[in-house]
Amino acid sequence: MGYGKSIAAFTEAKKLMPGGVNSPVRAFKSVNMDPIFMASGNGATITDIDGNTYIDYVLSWGPLILGHAHPEVVKAIQKTAELGTSFGAPTLMENEMAKLVMERVPSIEMVRMVSSGTEATMSALRVARGYTGRNKILKFEGCYHGHADSLLIKAGSGVATLGLPDSPGVPDSVAQNTLTVPYNDLESVRLAFQKFGDEIAAVIVEPVAGNMGVVPPNEGFLQELRNLTTEFGTILIFDEVMTGFRVGYNCAQGHYGVTPDMTCLGKVIGGGLPVGAFGGKREIMQQVAPSGSIYQAGTLSGNPLAMTAGFETLSRLDESSYDLFVERGDQLEAGFRAAAEKYNIPHTVNRAGSMIGFFFTNEPVVDFASAKTSDTDLFADYYRLMAEEGIFLPPSQFEGMFLSTAHTEEHIAKTVDAFHTVFAKLAR
Ligand code: PMP
Repeated sequence: MGYGKSIAAFTEAKKLMPGGVNSPVRAFKSVNMDPIFMASGNGATITDIDGNTYIDYVLSWGPLILGHAHPEVVKAIQKTAELGTSFGAPTLMENEMAKLVMERVPSIEMVRMVSSGTEATMSALRVARGYTGRNKILKFEGCYHGHADSLLIKAGSGVATLGLPDSPGVPDSVAQNTLTVPYNDLESVRLAFQKFGDEIAAVIVEPVAGNMGVVPPNEGFLQELRNLTTEFGTILIFDEVMTGFRVGYNCAQGHYGVTPDMTCLGKVIGGGLPVGAFGGKREIMQQVAPSGSIYQAGTLSGNPLAMTAGFETLSRLDESSYDLFVERGDQLEAGFRAAAEKYNIPHTVNRAGSMIGFFFTNEPVVDFASAKTSDTDLFADYYRLMAEEGIFLPPSQFEGMFLSTAHTEEHIAKTVDAFHTVFAKLAR
């Protein structure tokens, strides 16, 4: 296996784009290798420009829940493209998509489509602030909600991977309105509410954190957030950009049985095209322009290609898809644990639906501090060796792996074989 063409492409890219990439985690910095440039994908596999094929657990960082280039999704996109790619006027598919999202996520009584997860969370915060007339928001350390100023405080994902918790360029006046507390730490949430309760417009939370590795909510955590926000008149926002339609047929909120006021979506609902959405209670969403005065807009919002890809993707998921993810996840987890135990590799496994987090630590991982007990040097070595075995993983200890409906028992078995080969090399 060689990476000659990828290395040459990256040399050129570094002259053209900051760090050679259009999004930081693609630079593979924390795993000490140059990025692998991809050429094509097919189902659960992805092929790079050197012709190496991998089993893909990145899936474009979550969206490709049906795998790459699902024939029916591609066909539908082609058919739509032939009719024109954007109109700047309403289309019927926007109604269809809105109805489908609302049917699956009943807490969304009205929705607005946007073009990324960042736009969704940024807009949801503006709506929460406009609706409540309050400025502060509360978020959790290690949760990532896109790169809007208010949310780039103690964030996860690439920000955590690169150790840039508070980005330069975010004004202090903005940062001071963002309160951060540890994930799963209700005591800290209660203290924040005691001190600032009447000033907090919104609590925004990943109902399963997926940007510090995978960290599910402790029993009762989400419900208590619901109770506290209700008590203080604060909007509870579930950022389901990653968990939406990954953790369950009715998203994480359906799975855990807790109903937020507002929800942000992205990734899966675009089926691999650029999409985000925010929605929630009718009374709140009606404050958005043009029915209300809180402004939000987008030239390509509700884009026909994106709506088609999302609609076709969601339409192909049913309850049994989520049973399949549990089955494949069980197989992968058991294989990982057996290999790690055999070769004495420290490990903790966290899972939720089709999201899987393997941490190189023996400590339970319940928040960002415990996630950071992981051996990131070991992860980097593991990462490169797994790639050589034909397994494409998210290039950071602080990102989760994703499954698609295209991952078969054979794909998982091959991945488990790779765990054994790699852990034998890394054995301590
Ligand atoms: N929220 C969450 C929970 C996410 O995982 C992400 C992206 N990984 C975002 C928001 C931002 O989405 P986007 O990258 O589409 O702007």
